[in-house]
Amino acid sequence: IFDPQDVAGDEKELRAPICCILGHVDAGKTKLLDCIRGTNVQGREAGGITQQIGATYLPAENIRDRTSLKAETAIKVPGLLVIDTPGHESFSKMRSRGLSMCDIAVVVVDITKGLEKQTVESLHLLRCHNVSFIVALNKVDRLYGWKECTNAPIVEALKKQSDDVKSEYKWRLTKVVTEFKENGFNTAPYYENNKKKKVVNIVPTSAESGEGVPDLLLLLVRWLPDIITDKLAYDDTIECTVLEVNEHKDLGTTVDVVLINGVLRQGDQVIVCTKQGPVTTIIRDLLTPHPMKELKAKGAYKHHKEVRAAQGVKIVARGLQYAMAGTSLIVVKPGDDLRQAEAAAMQEIDMAISTTDENEKGTTTQEVSSIMTCKEGIYVQASSVGTLEAIIAHLKSSSVDIPVYDWNLGPVYKQDVMKASAMLKRKEEYAVILAFDVKVMPEASALAAESGLKIITADTVYRLVNIYTEHIKGLKEAKKMQFAAEAVFPCTLKILPNRIYHSKDPIVCDVEVVEGVVKVGTPICVFTPSKDKSKNTIVHSLGRISSMQTSNGNQIFSARNGVVAIKISGDSPQEKSRSYGRHFDSSNELVSEISRRSIDILKECFRDEMSAENWQLITRLKMQFKIA
Ligand code: GDP
Repeated sequence: IFDPQDVAGDEKELRAPICCILGHVDAGKTKLLDCIRGTNVQGREAGGITQQIGATYLPAENIRDRTSLKAETAIKVPGLLVIDTPGHESFSKMRSRGLSMCDIAVVVVDITKGLEKQTVESLHLLRCHNVSFIVALNKVDRLYGWKECTNAPIVEALKKQSDDVKSEYKWRLTKVVTEFKENGFNTAPYYENNKKKKVVNIVPTSAESGEGVPDLLLLLVRWLPDIITDKLAYDDTIECTVLEVNEHKDLGTTVDVVLINGVLRQGDQVIVCTKQGPVTTIIRDLLTPHPMKELKAKGAYKHHKEVRAAQGVKIVARGLQYAMAGTSLIVVKPGDDLRQAEAAAMQEIDMAISTTDENEKGTTTQEVSSIMTCKEGIYVQASSVGTLEAIIAHLKSSSVDIPVYDWNLGPVYKQDVMKASAMLKRKEEYAVILAFDVKVMPEASALAAESGLKIITADTVYRLVNIYTEHIKGLKEAKKMQFAAEAVFPCTLKILPNRIYHSKDPIVCDVEVVEGVVKVGTPICVFTPSKDKSKNTIVHSLGRISSMQTSNGNQIFSARNGVVAIKISGDSPQEKSRSYGRHFDSSNELVSEISRRSIDILKECFRDEMSAENWQLITRLKMQFKIA
């Protein structure tokens, strides 16, 4: 644990920047973290590196040593706190929780593969959380013929490579730069980057042999503090984020936190957020793991009277079991109004739960920080506020814009299913729980299966939303099939004179499609004026279009313009009796016979097939048919 007093310099005291590592599975996140920690640096002492709760602390001196930085070159920060991101969890809780507190992220990209699905997902998250990042273009040692230069700065290592390796490196780098560009980011290798604030730095690395890792560390401790000096200014105001709640057999419930700013002390009164409300408790102990060499018994911790930011710490206190990951832990100072402090603590959960009045559409919306809930929408369940926000941001940004009815944190219980089931009666497509990174309790699954509610689980937000959209597509197709016979698309047709091939059931003639879309199955009618002038026009149903052909004799099922031959077959005796010449002639317009129900079906199931002009025609026909 560093002593901030050691930090040289006359300027503002800075805290250690907090950094996390993101990327696609197998890009090399774990290996790079190991490499940064120095665990694979042969023959080198770990040099003050401390393993922390959910994080690793690297003192500046260790970094100086590894980067061959001259002793007189100042490092303004006391060190670097790297949040551990578990290796193979594709979109872990840590990733999202980690992000909200990070000053910078390292996005690991495998140079042999380029940007992959989860890389893009990470970029999306970073954009959502407004976190800057550096790209570690990893596995450069995989370039064919790479000459290993253990732990060398990358420019030096590149100089030693053959022309073939250099040219392969160049085209792969260009490909990755292009892929970033396609995702809306300008990037450049850091050694050629003159606009470091605007253009994202790429550092080629090998987590295997360490090339480029010194460059990455240098950027983190030298360049970063220059661009975010204010953010890194050490401050006594406590900023602390809950990472995880753990049950410990000797210690009871503990919470792992990252202390971003300020000091935590034993005996401090703290407030944690739970969905049920704020919980106030006293810190009984503050723990960090023992350094490796001092580790006597597995699971033994070092006890601290106080810890100073930035640190990963385990807090022992009563009443923490419902603390919500991703929320702030707040310290009540002497003289603080406890009520006010509790209210402030809960801000992240119900801050801005501002229930607005009924809006135009009659939908009451509730805003929970960035989470908007609506009267109709899906139910989202996630492990932390961070992940919840990420999912909801994704739902909003995806082309579908899916509304959220309600949300919860933690496992899916029966109560969640019951709440979400409200949508079964309102909108079937919203009768869904999207459960991310949480358990679904068996009784909840059983109830959902019984009531017809769908619970979707997936290991990435991307997949979760994809499965949901596929589910919706399936539902829509099924509905279309179910109502196809009753859907009536609007059309008006002009009968071509002298092109009547059969005047009575079935009526066969050539028509020109004047407006709308004509389909096989569409019921057709004509309007004739009533003899009694005081009465309205009379509708004569002729039957349904049973087949349709183009002028060159091809069978078709729908037409939007041009001339087609149609066959109208009557269903009822009345329809069968109607004939051209007697009940209607070429001065009559043929019109699709719509009804209130057929319009409702179009609205409900066939919106995607209807154009604005089609709706206009429906409005006009509604008046002719006197449909309310
Ligand atoms: P993660 O899923 O992103 O955490 O990926 P890992 O760190 O587990 O790495 C995935 C695989 O790639 C492992 O077999 C690593 O040994 C290997 N790997 C990671 N980084 C490098 C690298 O820079 N060079 C080479 N050759 N292999 C690497």
